[in-house]
Amino acid sequence: MSSSLRIAKQDMDQLVSALTSRYRLFGPVDVDGATVLREVKSADELALDAALDGPVKAAFFPQTEMLLSYDGTTSEPPPGRDKPTAVLGVRPCDARSLLLLDKVFGTGKYRDSLWQRRHDDSLIIGLGCGTPLETCFCNSMNLGPFDSQGSDIMLTDIGDAFLAESCTDKGERFLKAAYKSQVQRPSQADLDKAGQVRGKALESLAPAADFSGVKAALATLWDSALWDEVALGCLSCGACAYLCPTCHCFDVQDETAPGTMQGRRVRIWDTCQSALFTKEASGHNPRPSAKERIRQRVMHKFSYFVDNFGETACVGCGRCIRLCPADFDVRLVLERVKVEGKSGKQENRQGRQERQEAGTKDVRHAG
Ligand code: SF4
Ligand code: SF4
Repeated sequence: MSSSLRIAKQDMDQLVSALTSRYRLFGPVDVDGATVLREVKSADELALDAALDGPVKAAFFPQTEMLLSYDGTTSEPPPGRDKPTAVLGVRPCDARSLLLLDKVFGTGKYRDSLWQRRHDDSLIIGLGCGTPLETCFCNSMNLGPFDSQGSDIMLTDIGDAFLAESCTDKGERFLKAAYKSQVQRPSQADLDKAGQVRGKALESLAPAADFSGVKAALATLWDSALWDEVALGCLSCGACAYLCPTCHCFDVQDETAPGTMQGRRVRIWDTCQSALFTKEASGHNPRPSAKERIRQRVMHKFSYFVDNFGETACVGCGRCIRLCPADFDVRLVLERVKVEGKSGKQENRQGRQERQEAGTKDVRHAG
């Protein structure tokens, strides 16, 4: 049976202490006006009101991560972890993104041990979105601002307190162990307030768009002029991929100290928006311009990922819209895809062959 309890905001230190005693805890922190994910030790550090500007994937798939160290004759794996990972204040879109990344790194044919050791026994404490942003479109991606998929515990901000509800057995066990007999049960007024907050959040979201036809439409648009036009509005900076909670491509590099054989092998987030991403040793680049790269971003999220894992690799967080320096809006691209893909344009033989070849490559790039 799931528990619900009332956690006064002035008592958040108790929750944070219970978490840090058992977990390496990450949460949203304000750094120079941006809300980013950081390891936290006390409740004072948390910035729970603002939407996270960086993706939660960083807690499980760091931007830079050592795979091994070497000295020319031997190599050593990275040090083991000391505690499992917990993340506090995860919005529903980000919580769901972890389930999608787990399909890539944790549960498929090829499993990533570094992801698994952080993610498998983690604790995710979600925080419902009381005030969705204009750029949010989770409701168009079969989600909602209080969806509990991927969260072990869900918090709802009810003013001077959070209503905490367990969503999994793991979350239930944690709440029982952390609060024991000191549990403050929510009053009927608390439950009513939580209902109002959720209702208001749903009302404030723009009506859900129907993107169900996008995959089929994309199949007819491989060599469409649409991509030339879309690419005009993109700087190829890659910010959208680094900020996206579901993007997961990485590069592997050896960093050797000058004049020695000592160094470390690291993996680093990479992006298909970079011109170097697909540049081959021969100098040939199958995605030489922004047109091919932005097409790849859209195709991967809304077609290839569906082929590989049965779901769209977008959770509607809107971060790529909110933080793109060129105001690129993926929602508008999807609307155009729906319209132009249905306009009778047929994929030609060359386009189909190129798409199939690229699709094969993209399966490899999907990690
Ligand atoms: S869509 Fe925006 S954030 Fe993404 S690469 Fe283009 S300019 Fe950068
Ligand atoms: S594509 Fe954009 S809206 Fe979709 S999950 Fe990634 S950052 Fe969020």
